[in-house]
Amino acid sequence: MSYIIGLDVGTTSVRSCVYGVDDGSFSIVRQKAVEQIYPHPDWVEEEAEEIYLSTYMCLTDAFDKADGDVLGISLTNMRETVVCWDSVTGKPFYNAIIWQCRRTKDYCESLPKETKKLIYEKTGLVVDAYFSASKIKYLIDNVPKVKEALMAGRLRVGTVDSYIVYRLTGGRNFVTDITNASRTMLFNIHTLSYDEELLSLFGIPRGILPEVYDNDKIFGYTDLGGKTIPIAGVIGDQQSALFGQNCLEQGSAKVTYGTGLFMLFNTGDKICSTDSGLLSTIAYKVDGKVTYALEGSVFNAGTAIQFLRDNLGMITTAAESEALARSVDSADGVCFVPAFTGLGAPYWKSDAKGLICGLTRGSTKAHVVRAALEAMAYAARELFDIMQKESDIALDFVKADGGASENKFLMQFQSDQLQVPVKVPANKEATVLGSVKMCLKALGLNYKGEENLSTFTPEPRDDEVYYRWLNAVKRCIF
Ligand code: ADP
Repeated sequence: MSYIIGLDVGTTSVRSCVYGVDDGSFSIVRQKAVEQIYPHPDWVEEEAEEIYLSTYMCLTDAFDKADGDVLGISLTNMRETVVCWDSVTGKPFYNAIIWQCRRTKDYCESLPKETKKLIYEKTGLVVDAYFSASKIKYLIDNVPKVKEALMAGRLRVGTVDSYIVYRLTGGRNFVTDITNASRTMLFNIHTLSYDEELLSLFGIPRGILPEVYDNDKIFGYTDLGGKTIPIAGVIGDQQSALFGQNCLEQGSAKVTYGTGLFMLFNTGDKICSTDSGLLSTIAYKVDGKVTYALEGSVFNAGTAIQFLRDNLGMITTAAESEALARSVDSADGVCFVPAFTGLGAPYWKSDAKGLICGLTRGSTKAHVVRAALEAMAYAARELFDIMQKESDIALDFVKADGGASENKFLMQFQSDQLQVPVKVPANKEATVLGSVKMCLKALGLNYKGEENLSTFTPEPRDDEVYYRWLNAVKRCIF
């Protein structure tokens, strides 16, 4: 038997899987939590060294499980997060600034309207602290060690994929993939290269950034257990889930329900320009051909359930939310908008704060928990409606994955709200699976796994509750 090891460097944990090349088998081997650091209320960091060491641990466990017979290693990762390190030692100069971090929101908001328009036209992104460019600028402007390294020609900056590949290849390969590059806000999605005008706007020299590779390339080689193994199939997490879910046709879409909620809609070789708050992004580039996607990024989704569990103590496990939600007929007027770190698509309001409203003396924790789950479905409905309008393509169904797609109440409620079937694969790990499939492609091998979908078919929906929720969202924007 020979195997592919898949690595998924997520926001709060890293995991590894092994995929059997001969029989299409798939199993998660190791998951390791990575601690988040909050130096200020809306700043989010992680130790870059911890991210690497956790990844390495997950990798070696998978290597042992595969008994050393490994043909390739794939990598998918949280996007936009920035790591800066020393080209000589490979050691980070500063903590990784996580995609959720809002420290540069004032800077982003201060950019003139025409500049924001120019950035959107070139990158497909709505200017926001979420993306890498303002985070890199922050590091150069505010961290003396980073500035000194820049002067000394020793500074390397990249998204998490580029740091992991750099470390795994012993510093031989300073590369990133095109999907991660498309989230830096420095990459022109029309010319498929870093944009000189944007680099100078943010004061970022091209030389400190990694070279950009197509997804189906070999990104480098790593030495493990006396073997030299190719790292191939590197792709950002949301794009990887799209690929993993076989959304390869124009007009196919997936929603990932994790920390945040991300809807990606394959637009083929077309860049859909909209002013509706959706992003245009690169879905993948394989066989030399680029495919684009429309993306709706909602920063907080599963975090609402975490909040009820960890901050309010209403539930002890995320899974409990399903039975509680089913124990009542409706949220009884309770609306939950989990805008803990501002609102992403389609609003892009950094200063928005979360709310729970519509409470009465009859409200119970079951209503509040149900409202948190309903909020995920409403957010997806809002994006779904805009995507269909902007693309002029009717979606016949959507695929779902991510931690909260385990929740059958949520999946049924989602199908009702969208009025199309929601298809959920038995293997919820679409994200890492996408990169494994990409790795197979890079190595000229075929994927042998089966899709095995459960389908939730729509029942009549209550539009009233959705409109009430949309009104509640407006109240979050001060
Ligand atoms: P990420 O990869 O973004 O870290 P995951 O895909 O692992 O996230 O999903 C974890 C999120 O899903 C958490 O925010 C958690 O609250 C939520 N979640 C997990 N299981 C359930 C469930 N059964 N019902 C509702 N939410 C869930």
